[in-house]
Amino acid sequence: MSPDEGSRYAFVCPGCAESIAVDESMRNVLLERGCVICETTVTTAAFRRIRSIDTREL
Ligand SMILES: [Zn+2]
Repeated sequence: MSPDEGSRYAFVCPGCAESIAVDESMRNVLLERGCVICETTVTTAAFRRIRSIDTREL
C-alpha cells in the first residue's frame, strides 16, 4: 500500500491563478495537458500537498 494513495493537492495555476483541490490522478492530467482553464503548462511546483482529505481549501 502506497502512502501517497488518496493524496490531495492544492493546485494554483501559474497562468490564470485558478485554485482548485485535486487528487493524484487529476494532478497527473494537469501535468500532462496543462491547466484545464487556460491551458498553461503546469509543473509540479504548482501543487501543494494537502494533508487532510476534507480540507476546505475552496
Ligand atoms: Zn490556468
